[in-house]
Amino acid sequence: MAEYDVIVVGAGNAAMCAALAAREEGRRVLALERAPLEERGGNSTFTAGAIRVAYNGVEDLLELMPDLSEEERRNTDFGTYSEDQFFDDMARITQHRANPDLVELLIRRSHPTLKWLRTKGVRFVPIYGRQAFKVDGKFKFWGGLTVEAWGGGPGLVDALHKAAQANGIEVRYESRALGLLADDSGVRGVRIKSKGVSQELGAKAVVLACGGFEANAHWRTRYLGPNWDLAKVRGTRFNTGDGIRMALEIGAQSCGNWSGCHAVGWDRNAPEFGDLAVGDGFQKHSYPFGIMVNARGLRFVDEGADFRNYTYAKYGRVILEQPGQFAWQIFDQKVVHLLRDEYRIRRVTKAQADTLEELAGKLDDVDAERFLATVSEYNAAVDERVPFNPNVKDGRAAKGLAVPKSNWANTIDRPPFLAFAVTCGITFTFGGLRITNGGQVVDTEGRPIPGLYAAGELVGDIFYFNYPGGTGLMSGAVFGKIAGTSAAAAASGRNV
Ligand SMILES: Cc1cc2nc3c(=O)[nH]c(=O)nc-3n(C[C@H](O)[C@H](O)[C@H](O)COP(=O)(O)OP(=O)(O)OC[C@H]3O[C@@H](n4cnc5c(N)ncnc54)[C@H](O)[C@@H]3O)c2cc1C
Repeated sequence: MAEYDVIVVGAGNAAMCAALAAREEGRRVLALERAPLEERGGNSTFTAGAIRVAYNGVEDLLELMPDLSEEERRNTDFGTYSEDQFFDDMARITQHRANPDLVELLIRRSHPTLKWLRTKGVRFVPIYGRQAFKVDGKFKFWGGLTVEAWGGGPGLVDALHKAAQANGIEVRYESRALGLLADDSGVRGVRIKSKGVSQELGAKAVVLACGGFEANAHWRTRYLGPNWDLAKVRGTRFNTGDGIRMALEIGAQSCGNWSGCHAVGWDRNAPEFGDLAVGDGFQKHSYPFGIMVNARGLRFVDEGADFRNYTYAKYGRVILEQPGQFAWQIFDQKVVHLLRDEYRIRRVTKAQADTLEELAGKLDDVDAERFLATVSEYNAAVDERVPFNPNVKDGRAAKGLAVPKSNWANTIDRPPFLAFAVTCGITFTFGGLRITNGGQVVDTEGRPIPGLYAAGELVGDIFYFNYPGGTGLMSGAVFGKIAGTSAAAAASGRNV
């Protein structure tokens, strides 16, 4: 006799959405969290809480954020982010490789799933600080990212756990799932180690929602390639690929972009894993308004190729590929007011100088002479006839260079100059398990495995090469809810 109807492995966003959905169907649910209480919630806790959702106008947003004040509505151009725009972004960003069925579910269920989360007590607010700049007295949202969870990632995870507690979902901390109990009739439980004690727990259905393998240096090197062991981990130290491994061990099918991941520019001196006191503050995402140079003093990427949302997740890899795995971001006073909050944190690797020559001497490990030549070549190439506008792809380019800049090009000539050192910070991995549209894990022969479901980072075939910002939480919520509902349905008809 199974002790639980549904065991959910993990206690981040995807896991808690699965647990709440299964509980809603009246099932007895246990969530296993490898981390202690203070570090619960995996990468979800580290996020800013930004969530990409399709909406056709302010009326749709009001359903998610009924507390929007009159003044906020008057002073803000929320625009639209239609399902079609979301489809276009996913297709373009993943180079048309993402599984169309999963993408369709992700997009069409995005708004209804956030509405459902509201019923569980999760609150949403507009992302004023990061996704909207004020132009002519009005905030204008851009790049399809408009909504964030109140209180950011920690607020989201707290709200989900509060709902879990209120709904009678048991959460066991410091309890690591190590293997699946399975036979020819499917999965019938989990083998765990809880505070040093090994145990077997029976369940009629199991949902794996315990993240990718980003915190496993060995697997990173094996699957992402050389030097990935040197990347810093932006978030939790607990996502070491356990869920993927456990499923593969019982014959699950792997799929998706196993050599791909989400990785960003991250403070060069950040610790090996994320620090909850800093959250996502080590990221440095305002590079579209400046330039980046490597150890040779050369630019190496088009900083203004697209909105930050559409380039930041792939530029970590580009930084990792530079000599010494680092870069410096350079800004002058014309754009300093546009720098995101994360540039003003205390633990930042920063240099400041009144002349470019002085700055060159302060850029650790950079060829100073070549750096000065790079800036002067770049300054000469900026097309100042095109007006600068941070809210649109303004086409203000620096052309004719070995590495052009396509938008937001401004000369670097107004002191004091600022520079920030970054390396590669990995967020999460893209390869994972194959699931059905109902969130059920599929085996190597293409058959759904009875009793096994998955959601969140460890699902493959959704992201390839790159990622539109805010989609990780949305994917976890949509597929978490689907997996939880399916697992509950399976549990009601299954005796193990
Ligand atoms: C710094 C940072 C900022 C980010 N910002 C955003 C953002 O603003 N918007 C966005 O959409 N996405 C963002 N992301 C990505 C986002 O965090 C993830 O896509 C999403 O949170 C993943 O959710 P998940 O539930 O799959 O995994 P997680 O939230 O990582 O949860 C995994 C859970 O499994 C647990 N676990 C691991 N192994 C085991 C085991 N063997 N047994 C039991 N439990 C286990 C972990 O402790 C954790 O509780 C960010 C990520 C980082 C690191």
